[in-house]
Amino acid sequence: MSHVVSPTVPLRHGSAVPALGLGTWPMDDNTAERVVPLAVDLGYRLFDTAENYRNERGVGAGLRAAGVPRDHLFVTTKFNAKWHGRDLARQALEDSLERLGIDYVDLLLVHWPNPAQDRYVEAWQGVLDLRATGRVRAAGVSNFTPTHLDRLATETGELPELNQIQLCPTAVRSETVAYHAEHGIVTQSWSPLGRADAALLAADAVVEAARRHDRTPGQIVLRWHVQQGYSTVPKSSDPQRLAQNLAVFDFALTDDEMQAIGALDRGGEGVVDPHEFGH
Ligand code: NAP
Repeated sequence: MSHVVSPTVPLRHGSAVPALGLGTWPMDDNTAERVVPLAVDLGYRLFDTAENYRNERGVGAGLRAAGVPRDHLFVTTKFNAKWHGRDLARQALEDSLERLGIDYVDLLLVHWPNPAQDRYVEAWQGVLDLRATGRVRAAGVSNFTPTHLDRLATETGELPELNQIQLCPTAVRSETVAYHAEHGIVTQSWSPLGRADAALLAADAVVEAARRHDRTPGQIVLRWHVQQGYSTVPKSSDPQRLAQNLAVFDFALTDDEMQAIGALDRGGEGVVDPHEFGH
């Protein structure tokens, strides 16, 4: 089986996250236990799960079955709004570690800011406390806007190492990405393929680049992410697409192709508003 190793993107606190990993939502435990070892065999090292996905046990079992040493893997999990508090975040991590069957995570994320609840600063402080214990190697958030990030900086003096946000060529998130670049925050994209959105994968700019480079539209879109220095976590449960999605490090898009693909942006349409959604 061909084996691709993803390059990594450095994180501010000293570790590094693979540029491309496996998204595991909406896999259930059984699917995750079956797909994760396949992905490890192909060369995947980053696995993105969450309390909310209810598949941490399956992801953990799949990683054990794969038999790769723990320190070669990069495991991310995220916790829900009910754990937004310094002690609560510790409990959330302990529960996730128990379900995953490991004793540290490489990256812990506050899953959504849930601004209506207004406890995301305490949640972030909890993540920082946990990083200091070594049971969390990198501290991050997900679905935070510049407004939420500014508040973390003001009230705790420390910004996340990474923010995992919804981002793809039809939703380029310029304002948040610019904030990340200015503050040394790594951008990690979720739904990088727009959930296999036909309007994206069949767009002229994508299909033409696919033809020129003899790649699939999915590979072109994932190359667009990693070529900008983002880390990304496409989900597939299909062996062929799993392999394709990782094989994006041996070609490059031209500047014109990058621009044409980025021009598919719909100005925020379809982006989930964290003031209206969260869990
Ligand atoms: P996505 O990765 O953009 O798309 C997944 C869909 O695309 C699946 O239906 C998959 O089907 C299909 N697909 C995969 N590779 C393909 C390819 N090369 N060509 C065509 N279709 C392809 O969307 P997502 O699952 O929403 O996001 C990815 C991950 O991001 C999730 O699994 C999760 O880990 C994370 N996420 C995080 C948040 C957050 O709030 N932080 C929210 C949503 C998602 P097959 O499985 O059949 O290949």
